[in-house]
This record gives sequence, C-alpha cells and structure tokens, in this order.
Amino acid sequence: MKEKFRKFMIGRYGVDSLSKFMLGTAVVLLVFAMGFRNNFLNTLACLLVLLCYFRMFSRNYQKRAEENQKFLELKGKATTFLKREKEYFEQRKTHHIYKCPSCKQKIRVPKGKGKICITCPKCHTEFIKKS
Ligand SMILES: [Zn+2]
Repeated sequence: MKEKFRKFMIGRYGVDSLSKFMLGTAVVLLVFAMGFRNNFLNTLACLLVLLCYFRMFSRNYQKRAEENQKFLELKGKATTFLKREKEYFEQRKTHHIYKCPSCKQKIRVPKGKGKICITCPKCHTEFIKKS
C-alpha cells in the first residue's frame, strides 16, 4: 500500500507551504461553518481542500512552485508589515511617528521635546513638528 502510494506520487508536486496554509484555512473555515451553521463557509472550505489536493497531485511542478513562491513573498511582506506596526504600537507612549512630507518616509521622534525641526534621513527635507 505504502509502495503503491509512493509510486503514485512520483512526478507529482506534493505538499508545500501554500498547501499547508490552505489546509489550515480550510480547518478554520470548517470550525466557523459549524459554529455559525453557514453553508457558504462550508462550501468554501471544501473547495479549498479540493484545490489543495489538486495542487498536491499536480504534475505541473513549475507552475505550483511559482504559486508557492508568490505565496511566500506575500507572507513575508505581511509578516514584516505586522511586525513593524506592532513595534510602532509598543512605542506609541514614548515616540511619535511622523511621515516626511516629500518622500513619505516614516520617522520616529521621541515625545516631550517641544517644537523640533525634523530632518528626513532619506531626502534631507526639514519640517517642524511638536514632539
Ligand atoms: Zn523625506
């Protein structure tokens, strides 16, 4: 049986990060579908599982790898964004975050220093703000 499955999987794509994410999302959707007795969520979860199986058994290795690569890039961007927002949130009592008026660069300034002239480290534009 194990040998049969191994032969069946030869040349097929298999499991990757995107598949795992899709299965996880499907499980969460199924839990919500049961909680809210929602048929739409249930259908969506089943479609995700089917799509996941399609990807795992696919022989188009390159296309599946590209999809996974795009997913990993998006995941990386989302993780970076959330990490930065968390840092800003933690520093909100001690620091102000201002945006440079010309290049939109975010600049962190300590609070409680009165009116100060801020020089953008990226484009060297100067602007006055209350810290
Ligand atoms: Zn700037």
